[in-house]
Amino acid sequence: MNDKEIEKLIAAEGKRQREGLEMIPSENHTSADVLKALGSRLTDKYSEGYPGMRYYGGCEYVDAVENLARDRAKALFGVSHANVQPYSGSPANQAIYFALVDPGDTVMGMHLYFGGHMTHGLKVNFSGTYYRSVQYHTGKDGYLDYGEMTKMVKTEKPKLIFVGATAYPRIFEWARLREIADISGAWLIADISHIAGLVVAGAHPSPVGQAHVVMTTTHKTLRGPRGAMILCNGNPSNPLKAAERRPENLPTLIDRAIIPGLQGGPHNHQTAAIAVALREAAQPSFKQYGRQIVKNAKILAEELLKKDYKLVTGGTDNHLLLIDLTNKKIIGADAEKALSKAGITVNKNTVPFDPRSPFSPSGIRMGTPAITTRGMKEKEMVQIASWIDEAISSASDAKILTRLNKQIGEFCKKFPLPSDPAPKA
Ligand SMILES: *Cc1c(COP(=O)(O)O)cnc(C)c1O
Repeated sequence: MNDKEIEKLIAAEGKRQREGLEMIPSENHTSADVLKALGSRLTDKYSEGYPGMRYYGGCEYVDAVENLARDRAKALFGVSHANVQPYSGSPANQAIYFALVDPGDTVMGMHLYFGGHMTHGLKVNFSGTYYRSVQYHTGKDGYLDYGEMTKMVKTEKPKLIFVGATAYPRIFEWARLREIADISGAWLIADISHIAGLVVAGAHPSPVGQAHVVMTTTHKTLRGPRGAMILCNGNPSNPLKAAERRPENLPTLIDRAIIPGLQGGPHNHQTAAIAVALREAAQPSFKQYGRQIVKNAKILAEELLKKDYKLVTGGTDNHLLLIDLTNKKIIGADAEKALSKAGITVNKNTVPFDPRSPFSPSGIRMGTPAITTRGMKEKEMVQIASWIDEAISSASDAKILTRLNKQIGEFCKKFPLPSDPAPKA
């Protein structure tokens, strides 16, 4: 590479990933094939439109790429329609609002501080600005409060309900959620960005058949490049013709919302990398991967509970744990910093009814998708839990944190990133 400044930074980030434990639950490590597709000539090509109906010439190969990605997505999730063009999760959600509701309409989503995403109606986000957003919460026990949701739907009569989270350790009950949405005839949108890989593996119930529209990012548990997909059922899409807002028209409504509604040219290199990731996710080994993510999270939870950590909801059903640190006399930011010095990357996070501020919350969030990709299993989780405890208990002891950092760096050598050569026996 001629650009030495950038080359150095890429190498440094690779080293950081290689020598540390990546435990931010929305992150993962992609395969060499995904990286190859991302770094390909496909990025040079403009192809506004959809396969077979583009505004540019020379699209024969990118058409085939996008068709493969769409077909693989449909087969993997069991839907009749997939749009693989969203640049990322947030623009995908924006397209869903644009397709299904008008400015000023009432929409409902989980409050950010209780695990929701900004695009689910946060006041300062477009979703809380252009729409009349009302927000639901979890109960004191940390579980989604279905009772509150039901009451809220009856009084607020939302036209659209987003369900999905960035910091919720339990299963979503899709059938129950659909019943709640049906009370006001709302569109039910399942945002499975965090859990898509678990859904594919059968380790979390699929929302397909219950939710009207399913959105997922492709770079979290699904282990693809940054990007997103919108999935639904209905009549074949005709993006050239306006359609009424009825369930059978969902494919057309979604496609038109992406382009011409919101985006220009698709990122063809990203589409190719999504196709590669979807093929990987269709292999039997991916089912094992998804199940191991959950097994690992459960062991980590058990071990931390033994060490007197307070977990929101008392444990986990999925890939993440939300730890309330109030009994440990340390705030989220300080725990995050100590763990980082020890070589474990997590992030500070609010816990339900957090007595502190969202900028300095009481908890931390951690997950197992990336470390499971590296081949770590139950035995390693026990070790990692004890390191986490040691780092948090010795947060102000630079010597101990440095020692942990060395130990963890050594340990990581046995678990190469997917694109790295296997370690010598
Ligand atoms: C990550 C995430 C998004 C947004 O994805 P970006 O690619 O960061 O824009 C939306 N919703 C949920 C639930 C997410 O976890």
